[in-house]
Amino acid sequence: MPLEISSVLISQEQIREKVLQLGAEINERYRGQELVVVGILKGAVFFLSDLARALEPELDVSFDFMSVSSYGSATESSGVVRILKDLDSDVRGKHVLIVEDIVDSGLTLAYLLQLLRQRKPASLGVCALLDKPERRRVEVPIDFRGFVIPDAYVVGYGLDAAGKWRHLPEIHTVVSRS
Ligand code: 5GP
Ligand code: MG
Ligand code: MG
Repeated sequence: MPLEISSVLISQEQIREKVLQLGAEINERYRGQELVVVGILKGAVFFLSDLARALEPELDVSFDFMSVSSYGSATESSGVVRILKDLDSDVRGKHVLIVEDIVDSGLTLAYLLQLLRQRKPASLGVCALLDKPERRRVEVPIDFRGFVIPDAYVVGYGLDAAGKWRHLPEIHTVVSRS
């Protein structure tokens, strides 16, 4: 069934405010430490590029990326994750902050946490713009959380449906057109 975007769930202004607030919390937490921010491609890139600019100039921070693909249907992840692109850098002894667009079942994040923990970072944290707790299948820690949203499929600000709508500046829910 074709999908179309429906009303705005989270506006540009709400996102902007939240990003500043999350940036301030991250500055506070990691000041004076060596931080590696790990963005999860592709969805988190849009959020991360705004978040990065909310970090203070003095912060000792570098950026790396991972790309993962979760086996499953278009809208349900299976928990079996394939690494399409691993980190370029060694994170041993460094403070690592995973930046995700959304935590849904939690299966992707649980896998990433377990994988990165094996590399012995000094600490391992999670920042997620969106959290859909109703869909959670495995408990995962979220240290910096943007918005808690209801169980609906969302697009925009990096989030896609079959590759579409990542470029929307705000977050929308999608509906099936019949
Ligand atoms: P999880 O493993 O937590 O079920 O799923 C995580 C991934 O599924 C997210 O990083 C995202 O790529 C995708 N996902 C989950 N919910 C949504 C949603 O509402 N909209 C979009 N566009 N992607 C979602
Ligand atoms: Mg993601
Ligand atoms: Mg996607």
